[in-house]
Amino acid sequence: MSLAQNTFSDLKRLAGSENVLTEAEDLIPYSFDGTAALRQMPGCVVFASTRELVSGILKLANQAGAAVVTRGSGTGLSGGSLPSPDCIVLCLARMDKILELDRANLTLLAQAGATTQTIADAAAAAGLFYPPDPGSMKISTIGGNVAENSGGLRGLKYGITRNYVMGLEVVLPDGEVLWTGNKCVKDVAGYSLRDLFIGSEGTLGVITKVLLKLIPKPPAKSTMVATFARMDQAAQTVSDIIAAQIIPCTLEFLDRTTIHCVEDFAKVGLPLDCEALLLMETDGHPGPVAEEAARIQDIARKNGAVEVRLAKDDSEAARLATARRSAFSALARVSPTTILEDATVPRSELAKMIRFVAGVAQKHRLRIGTFGHMGDGNLHPTFLTDERNQEEMHRVEEAFREIFDEAIRLGGTITGEHGVGVAKKSFLPKFAGDAQMRVMRELRKVLDPNAILNPGKMFD
Ligand SMILES: Cc1cc2nc3c(=O)[nH]c(=O)nc-3n(C[C@H](O)[C@H](O)[C@H](O)COP(=O)(O)OP(=O)(O)OC[C@H]3O[C@@H](n4cnc5c(N)ncnc54)[C@H](O)[C@@H]3O)c2cc1C
Repeated sequence: MSLAQNTFSDLKRLAGSENVLTEAEDLIPYSFDGTAALRQMPGCVVFASTRELVSGILKLANQAGAAVVTRGSGTGLSGGSLPSPDCIVLCLARMDKILELDRANLTLLAQAGATTQTIADAAAAAGLFYPPDPGSMKISTIGGNVAENSGGLRGLKYGITRNYVMGLEVVLPDGEVLWTGNKCVKDVAGYSLRDLFIGSEGTLGVITKVLLKLIPKPPAKSTMVATFARMDQAAQTVSDIIAAQIIPCTLEFLDRTTIHCVEDFAKVGLPLDCEALLLMETDGHPGPVAEEAARIQDIARKNGAVEVRLAKDDSEAARLATARRSAFSALARVSPTTILEDATVPRSELAKMIRFVAGVAQKHRLRIGTFGHMGDGNLHPTFLTDERNQEEMHRVEEAFREIFDEAIRLGGTITGEHGVGVAKKSFLPKFAGDAQMRVMRELRKVLDPNAILNPGKMFD
């Protein structure tokens, strides 16, 4: 598909020329997302401000046979908002309003371009809580979070984006507008189309509004850091905490490489003389929180923790959480190319998977920093490499293949939260199997017969 001059003129007439970018230097920032080593110039970028405009653009794209790649903030880590050649990038970042906070029903309605942080802040201002907190929450949009079904640091106790989506307004590829879901806690009328659009990675429709569930804010929180001389001890601590039927809200892991990079970057006073660090948080009512915190510290010590530290106040707790959120950025500073993956395994297989990743790094002579949502079994092996070194990139690809194969073998998945996009589409058939692939392809064809939305993503 290639964009014709008259398509540019039609788009400018529809959206206003000030909302359409066509010059090469303006398009460059939209030619990549957060995924390393993927770049493609689009044909143009259009900023949408209303649902009607989104609908008009999709109708026009259908007539012109033009591809449309929906974009939030472009922080995706699987190439989901990477443009296809000559496509229209449909950017929703300016549709960023909170439309309603309903205290009686504990819901929040937002435009898809609102950032996750704006939503969390609006909920907090009303004394409520929106738990999903991807590391990118300051800039990622709620539309992007829904399209990727994003997780975060609190997934273990509170779940992921899917668990908070009550309704969606979606513009279908032919421009028709669909509402799915509502404020009812229970609703079993028809297929759950809402669930179909969650995690659809911009391939089935353009989400324009999101209705979210909010919950009461936990009154107390306790944050702890434990360090270990061996990775196995940290993994065993996680297993023992879960086996003791304690579900912390955060159970995050950093390996030696990541700890050093984070401390160098964020300077929060992390202990450096260790192989593994666990950041753990428990929340709820003050009594149970204090009791759980004591049991967690006990379990860490029994597993040989070198040091167990309890954050003395909210500001220290916030500094530690910020340090963990900065892990990817901190690792990204030390090499020209940083490739972050999110292989995920059942929690019982975590220790095996961590050992496997370390073995792969050694075998292929690669530098890998691993961190992640340990309580969810969701690891982020992060390759510190250089895309200009073809020979090394070949070894990186081989290492990835081995890591994904092992994750599948252990009963895990090729992506726990970042999505398939372009980066993992070659691994999807092996993971999903023939029947699932057929149903997914047919669903996509029914909704988007002209294949205008995000072509080449998830599968061809
Ligand atoms: C530093 C950093 C930390 C991160 N931490 C986490 C983390 O902890 N957990 C996690 O899950 N992810 C994380 N991510 C990945 C990323 O931030 C999430 O996938 C996020 O949800 C993407 O939001 P976005 O607005 O940037 O979407 P984009 O990157 O713009 O788009 C992502 C996908 O969603 C589609 N899309 C976007 N908006 C819409 C819409 N309105 N309607 C339909 N489709 C749409 C796009 O086509 C694309 O396929 C992190 C990324 C970075 C850079």
